[in-house]
Amino acid sequence: MFYAGIRKEDWHRSLEKLLTTYDIFVPVKDEFSLDYEPFRPDQAERIVYNTPKPATPLKNFFLPVRENVTSSRAGSKPRIIIGVPNCDIEALMLLDEIYLDEVFADPWYRSRRNNTILVASDCYTVNDHCHCLSYGVKPWSMAHADMAILAEGDQIFLRVMSETGREIAEQLTDIYSVDDAAADSYAEKRHSEAEELLTALNAGLPDYTATGEIIQKAGDQIWEKYAAKCVSCGACTTICPTCSCFLLIDKPDFEKVKQMDACQYPGFERVAGGEDALFELHRRFRNRYMCKYVWRPQKFNSLACTGCGRCIEACIGKINKNELFMELT
Ligand code: SF4
Ligand code: SF4
Ligand code: SF4
Repeated sequence: MFYAGIRKEDWHRSLEKLLTTYDIFVPVKDEFSLDYEPFRPDQAERIVYNTPKPATPLKNFFLPVRENVTSSRAGSKPRIIIGVPNCDIEALMLLDEIYLDEVFADPWYRSRRNNTILVASDCYTVNDHCHCLSYGVKPWSMAHADMAILAEGDQIFLRVMSETGREIAEQLTDIYSVDDAAADSYAEKRHSEAEELLTALNAGLPDYTATGEIIQKAGDQIWEKYAAKCVSCGACTTICPTCSCFLLIDKPDFEKVKQMDACQYPGFERVAGGEDALFELHRRFRNRYMCKYVWRPQKFNSLACTGCGRCIEACIGKINKNELFMELT
């Protein structure tokens, strides 16, 4: 791992050059939100680094909502995704454990993973519902991405973390060496500022290692209470960077379509003959918590939450899972 420096203007000029080889996505801010958009040199001033978090979870680049999995997998242009927060990088690691399983790897997912360069973004600030630290996830990336970006005024520090990252760095215009110790100390200052903000924001949340036990002990009353505000829209699971469920739908001519699913939808667990163990809404509501905090740790030894807070922001019923946890603690 090493650091390099580049002026913002040169970074964007370099990205323009790289467009001949790569599809490039960057975090762009408008009046409503921050989200990934294809890089265009003329919108460089709207690109925002080091702030949480693009509205779209990283998983959408690898798990499209719907795709025909019997069509041919034509080679596509490699891509660089820039500005990924660490909560989403860690969520991708959780998806890898499922979709890159050595016996049942998903070839579509694998080819997208192999075809994608990740440029992380250290969070300098936090949003209202960010709680990554509560799940042991840091608001910066030291691994699992190819580079990380740290912007300061019109300069950018790049933390180069992989061989692929080094190859990209070599193609950048007017990149310069920086003293690793000085860059490290700048990064550490930013990291502790973000950590302090999160610690203050999330005071009162239970220790993440205890969440499974808390959920298992909870009686029906709490699920019925919170589910009373749920309309089964599925937004909390659709927007979650770790949710992984999908349906395979048979189509004419032996085609199959893979469609992302959500346990909050009615009928999620319905089987032939019409039986449905999750028919009642509060049971579907509880299923999401059991999946993330009990069953996932039992199978993979990791929780299926990285504390991004998107499920809280997206919920039409204003259901806040952290309030539920605090009520149970
Ligand atoms: S459960 Fe909520 S906070 Fe946790 S990773 Fe999913 S969307 Fe983010
Ligand atoms: S069962 Fe529900 S909570 Fe678990 S991965 Fe599927 S949609 Fe997400
Ligand atoms: S986003 Fe809220 S209302 Fe929609 S399914 Fe999830 S908990 Fe229910």
